[in-house]
Amino acid sequence: MKLIIMGPPGAGKGTQAERLVKELNITHISTGDMFRAAIKEGTEMGKKAKEYMDKGQLVPDEVVVGMVKDRLLQPDCEKGFLLDGFPRTAAQADALSKTLNEMGIELDGVINIEVPREKLMARLTGRRVCKSCGGSYHVIFNAPKRSGICDSCSGELYQRSDDNEETVSNRLDVYEAQTQPLIEYYSELGVFLNINGDQNIDIVLKDVLEVLKQ
Ligand code: ADP
Ligand code: AMP
Repeated sequence: MKLIIMGPPGAGKGTQAERLVKELNITHISTGDMFRAAIKEGTEMGKKAKEYMDKGQLVPDEVVVGMVKDRLLQPDCEKGFLLDGFPRTAAQADALSKTLNEMGIELDGVINIEVPREKLMARLTGRRVCKSCGGSYHVIFNAPKRSGICDSCSGELYQRSDDNEETVSNRLDVYEAQTQPLIEYYSELGVFLNINGDQNIDIVLKDVLEVLKQ
């Protein structure tokens, strides 16, 4: 399956993506994870991306689009993929349509996880991420069995530097201004699937898998 998962920061895209790619045996492509990996490696692209990420702004379209195009050409995407955190602007959505057209690929679904804005701040400031496998936890809503340690790989959990109140607030504004309008863009394609993300993690997963079957 070829899928996109959308929704505001903190909606649970990464949490669901982690589970969905296992269930569907497809490749997870998270642009945020790719930028964080580039920052860790100290690449030029990583250094440039960090300037935007620290402020809660979007990395320029040309940087993201080039990176995703290269990623989609990798052999592990042939079995199917789940794009998480991309596209985030109209220009990115147009570039993606063009690339998929050129590759002869049609999207099977665009999953939109809906969560009211007032719930997102607590989700993001309480988020903890595994340094080794990228698994996403929450200090209250999805706590690991042992505090600070990943359940799946025993890696160390850390708090993302952009998960502070000020940056989160900017990220939510940026989402509303630049990414939310894509809901209309994808609704018109006829593969748009709205999911209530304001429920228990397992129920959200069950709902997503159910709509994908239809
Ligand atoms: P996104 O990738 O959309 O930014 P994440 O999947 O990282 O969001 O989730 C953000 C935070 O919310 C994490 O701390 C995660 O554990 C928590 N979370 C995810 N889904 C739910 C849910 N259904 N209910 C409560 N908390 C959730
Ligand atoms: P995320 O991990 O999806 O929350 O993304 C973290 C940050 O990475 C965002 O706040 C942006 O600065 C940057 N980023 C990730 N994906 C994109 C994208 N598609 N376009 C622009 N910036 C992005």
